[in-house]
Amino acid sequence: MVGWTGKFLRVNLSKGKAVAEAYGASVARDFLGGRGFAAKILWEELGRGVDPLSPENKLIFAAGPLTGFSLPSSGKLVVASKSPLTGGYGDGNIGTIAAVQMRKADYDAVIIEGRAKKPLVLVIRDENAEFLEAKDLWELNSFETEERLTSIYGRTAGILCIGQAGENLVKYATIVSQEGRAGGRPGMGAVMGSKVLKAVVFIGSHDLQAAYPKEMQELGAEAYREVLTKPNYSFWKRQGTMSTIEWSQENAVLPSCNYREGVFGKAQTIGGFAMEKIKVSNRGCPQCNMTCGNIVKDSDRKESELDYENVAMLGSNIGLGDLKQVAALNRVADEYGLDTISLGNVLGFAMEASEKGLIDQNIPWGGFKTTKALIKDIAYRSGPLGETLAEGVRSASEAVGGGSDRWAMHVKGLEVSAYDCHTAPAMALAYGTSSIGAHHKDAWVISWEVKAGRESYNARKVDKVIELQRIRGGVFECLTVCRLPWIEVGLELEWYSRFLYAATGLEMSLDNLNTIADRVFNLTRAFWVREYGKKWGSHMDVPPARWFEDPLTKGAFEGRSLDRDKYNNMLQMYYRKRGWDERGIPRKSTLKKLGLEDAASQLGGRVKLAE
Ligand code: SF4
Repeated sequence: MVGWTGKFLRVNLSKGKAVAEAYGASVARDFLGGRGFAAKILWEELGRGVDPLSPENKLIFAAGPLTGFSLPSSGKLVVASKSPLTGGYGDGNIGTIAAVQMRKADYDAVIIEGRAKKPLVLVIRDENAEFLEAKDLWELNSFETEERLTSIYGRTAGILCIGQAGENLVKYATIVSQEGRAGGRPGMGAVMGSKVLKAVVFIGSHDLQAAYPKEMQELGAEAYREVLTKPNYSFWKRQGTMSTIEWSQENAVLPSCNYREGVFGKAQTIGGFAMEKIKVSNRGCPQCNMTCGNIVKDSDRKESELDYENVAMLGSNIGLGDLKQVAALNRVADEYGLDTISLGNVLGFAMEASEKGLIDQNIPWGGFKTTKALIKDIAYRSGPLGETLAEGVRSASEAVGGGSDRWAMHVKGLEVSAYDCHTAPAMALAYGTSSIGAHHKDAWVISWEVKAGRESYNARKVDKVIELQRIRGGVFECLTVCRLPWIEVGLELEWYSRFLYAATGLEMSLDNLNTIADRVFNLTRAFWVREYGKKWGSHMDVPPARWFEDPLTKGAFEGRSLDRDKYNNMLQMYYRKRGWDERGIPRKSTLKKLGLEDAASQLGGRVKLAE
């Protein structure tokens, strides 16, 4: 096996043991890496019903065959686990030196099991694993933790850590690296906290082996040059994803005041051009020549890294129109290790609940000081409201009652990210059917949908969602490289088959890669169904009631909302095209065709599988 290291490292924190394990070439060929490896490991090694915050849950760090090679944006790492927020499959990716160093330490994935007795830092240095006491680091925020570890291990060490939110098991705590690059929205940071693992440090000394080293080097250099020639490149370097604020406002999909509206009166003051005025530098992931993290000085005079999602969720969605204050909220969220999308969603929910008198506290829309204090309460689970909101919006709405489930904006327990879908049925379908709950990453279909027409609920839209789920959620997550060179500046998909061939010697067409993507997608779905059993049904794939029942009251699409019958028809069309039954459960024949016989057999014991 070339391109892959062929090894996983299994770390048991309860026993203080780490053992390297070889895995077979067929695993690499059939699952590629990243999300593929994580889904396979979690499917095979977790029994149904494991408490996500117990020692029995496993935390996976997984890279792919392209991770770490010198080619555009290859410094990504998938972090995955059973999610404490949703109870289903959960993952996310982080752009981090840890991805590169893990591969250089000669591992494609690390499987963390058990629970440490005392706070711990795990240091993985090639074949050696050290379990070091982290007493002095516990209770530090993620920036402080990383700074301390960097002063010991140096700037080239790859560091993953949690802040106070992970320690306190906030259900949407993330894992953080490189001052605010965070991943694992569905509570991967809480899983790490439950294992009393404060940080992992990777230091590797091996060179990555490619099947065709010279070609790999030349191809990578050529691709880096190609990125620089793309017409959108220089504007991307100026604004990254921030120009999406203006775009979303123009197209009435910018979430505002807990997704009541798709436009925000102060959009201009938090948009890409406003950001440029206070920007001080760019930051990004390793191996990337289109770094997109916009560093600004926030209202507390600290550096904060802005992108579209965190600004929309901590800005327009909570009615805050001062960009420096938005940046300050983003900075504290990163310090605590809170997912900024879920946090902005939960805060919007709390503000609406306060406005409607469903909670005692006064949490005004756009109130900076109150919001900042509330974020601290959430991170520390202080007071009844902090405790309630730390559980996520689905649980908070159950606690608050008063019909708030209608406007608790989540799918399967994961808070919706930053696109309002009153007038975007395909994007609603993408949220509805994503592998981890309402996340945009797998199928960011909305820019296509705006051009294709907002009104229709047709087969073209279903096909587009599936196509994007294959490429974005499958191919990129399994190769474990960033999708943005492709989607944002237009580096053609053909490059990735060429990279894979040079790295591994395997010739895989886009069709072959799509089959792997389907295998992994069906396995993540099987994971959900195994957990939920007979409670599973098509209602699990339906977005929140607000988008169907509360029409927009502002902007060009005033009076519009989603049509429930048409959405349900589109969902059934999606299931048929996926080879699933009317409940959204893969048919036996679909699973078998993808080589997932074990999934067919295990699911057959939980629910009646259609042929
Ligand atoms: S484009 Fe942005 S997210 Fe992607 S690798 Fe580069 S810095 Fe990271």
